[in-house]
Amino acid sequence: MGNRSLRRIIDKLRQAYGSPSPSRITDPFEMVLYESVAYLVADEHRDRAFENLRSTIGLSPDEILAASRDQWQSVAELAGSNKRGQIAKMIKSAEIVRDEFDGDLSQILTWPFKKAIAALRKFPAVGEPSAEKILLFNKAAAIMPFESNGLRVVVRIGFAPELSNYSAMYRAAQRAVMDDIPADHDWLITAYHLLRKHGQTICKRATPQCELCVVRPDCDFGRLS
Ligand code: SF4
Repeated sequence: MGNRSLRRIIDKLRQAYGSPSPSRITDPFEMVLYESVAYLVADEHRDRAFENLRSTIGLSPDEILAASRDQWQSVAELAGSNKRGQIAKMIKSAEIVRDEFDGDLSQILTWPFKKAIAALRKFPAVGEPSAEKILLFNKAAAIMPFESNGLRVVVRIGFAPELSNYSAMYRAAQRAVMDDIPADHDWLITAYHLLRKHGQTICKRATPQCELCVVRPDCDFGRLS
């Protein structure tokens, strides 16, 4: 890996994009709902779907479980292509909080890391990266999660090999940056947002715009393209 530094890369991305706004949604159950409220949609669409859920039904497990068919009909209109599946996930998630967490998911924020991750992974829309993100955004764990855009960026830069096994690639990338990141929640949250933004705007999946990229000198893929 040579002297490749995630800190330097995040500094450059911060200069390019500015500091990201603070995360708007951090309550663990609300973050679960945010993941579940729509399927494969753009961020702006997901935001609208979430705000519609908030105003139409509410965001507590009790409100989700008390919602009527008409209320769900309104939420379904913004749920993307898997409407029934997304609604089922939200209802199941509310049942899990009611039945397994005494109605309060935020208690997991004081639990040991592995136990908290295992608890979050009970929810149908929450994989390991989302579980880690929930703990980081609540400053309950100093860890570097990546969503798919951010992971693509760090893999192309050369922190980890591109692997067909997503989970193995994710772990390899986390291991590679582990010694080069501060145990600082705010820095980690900023890095998460900036890597995601870079993957969405410049380091796109099909057409990376390396000629416009501020981290090209640090990037294996960019130097060869
Ligand atoms: S140089 Fe290209 S591949 Fe590397 S991070 Fe930038 S856009 Fe992505």
